[in-house]
Amino acid sequence: METLIKNKKIAVIGGGPVGLTTARLLQMKDADVSVYERDAHAGARMLGGTLDIHSDTGQKAIKAAGLLEELYSLSRPTPERMGDKDGNILMETFPPEDDLYSRPEIDRPDLRNLLLNSLKENTVVWDAHVLGITEENGKFRIEFQSGKTAIADLVIIADGSMSKARNIITESTPAATGTFCIEGEVFFPQTDTPFLYEMVNNGNLAVVQDKKTLFIHTKGNGHFNYYASFREPGNWQKDNAVDFDDNATVEKFLNKLFADWNVVFKDLFRVTNEYRGFPLRVFSDFESWKPHANITLAGDAAHVMPPFGGLGVNLGLLDALNLTENLTNGQFPDIRTALQDYETKMIAYLNPILSDAAGADERIHTQTSTPEERRKRMEQMREKLAQKH
Ligand SMILES: Cc1cc2nc3c(=O)[nH]c(=O)nc-3n(C[C@H](O)[C@H](O)[C@H](O)COP(=O)(O)OP(=O)(O)OC[C@H]3O[C@@H](n4cnc5c(N)ncnc54)[C@H](O)[C@@H]3O)c2cc1C
Repeated sequence: METLIKNKKIAVIGGGPVGLTTARLLQMKDADVSVYERDAHAGARMLGGTLDIHSDTGQKAIKAAGLLEELYSLSRPTPERMGDKDGNILMETFPPEDDLYSRPEIDRPDLRNLLLNSLKENTVVWDAHVLGITEENGKFRIEFQSGKTAIADLVIIADGSMSKARNIITESTPAATGTFCIEGEVFFPQTDTPFLYEMVNNGNLAVVQDKKTLFIHTKGNGHFNYYASFREPGNWQKDNAVDFDDNATVEKFLNKLFADWNVVFKDLFRVTNEYRGFPLRVFSDFESWKPHANITLAGDAAHVMPPFGGLGVNLGLLDALNLTENLTNGQFPDIRTALQDYETKMIAYLNPILSDAAGADERIHTQTSTPEERRKRMEQMREKLAQKH
């Protein structure tokens, strides 16, 4: 049966993991697809830390894209440690021997390159900063910062949480949760912070205490990528003269914030090579979506959650899978119906998860619990997860 995408010019806005996976899945069905990406080239900016790709969600999309073996070769089964502010390790878990790759960690640039290499040449149009989309005679006109335009029959908006293209579907925008994240990258942790390097033990270390967190991840290239999260007191950035282009100001602030934490954490701040900061946001205002056809949202452009469940990219990849299946499985009479069904399913799987993630953000940053209480809660969560698999 002819698929709905035959002879259709498809535009994907955003070359993040969700946009690129969508393009790959469509190209496997011979779609005419272009990805419009704001970055000037693949290595144009620091892409941050690692992502764990789950077997029950994200890996399904990667498998359908024919890239699972390569994903495994680029990713790592990763031990998870939970510590406390005094530098003790309270709990350590390893990926199960019989299911080593249930949640392997992959560096963000490696995932991006894996997906880019799977696409036909020139699929991605770099330096294509989209400013907005308008509908004209049943087609879409995409406007770029450069002044250029492109026309498409079908548009998939996947330009992330601060999407500029999204307003053709909803005027609603993500709301700050009140939590701020400072992300740091350490290039040489083994030599620059050897005690902490041993504590993290080539895996991940999570410390959640005193209404703040420190999550440290070991990347495939040996770097540490970490983020510290805390509730934003009013004018804190201005009051503390924090300037993310001046590492010394960030280090000073973090030393104050984590003043009574073990010296190994101060070491981490001292040897950090790059910092950036951003507020956490939530976005799930599905009710605000205006009537639309032949255009939809996927990934963080459609839904944003605090990162405490490690699910954002996994659910985005699931969006890519469901969306492209609906468009190509011959079971829907037209694109409008295929997209409506995709959106209905997306809302159903997202709603409970979004509220869990928002609840975790609130609980972590407003309630005091002992390390022992948190350890127990982690164990219960792991048992629940293990039962699901
Ligand atoms: C600190 C932190 C840790 C996280 N950890 C995890 C984790 O462990 N596991 C997990 O599942 N998720 C995690 N997430 C969430 C995950 O990062 C996102 O869900 C995921 O990146 C979403 O992918 P995306 O492709 O939808 O959007 P993005 O990754 O944001 O990609 C959007 C792309 O669109 C481009 N773009 C943006 N605007 C425009 C424009 N106007 N025109 C053209 N292109 C544009 C961007 O340059 C980018 O390439 C974390 C998030 C944060 C903040």
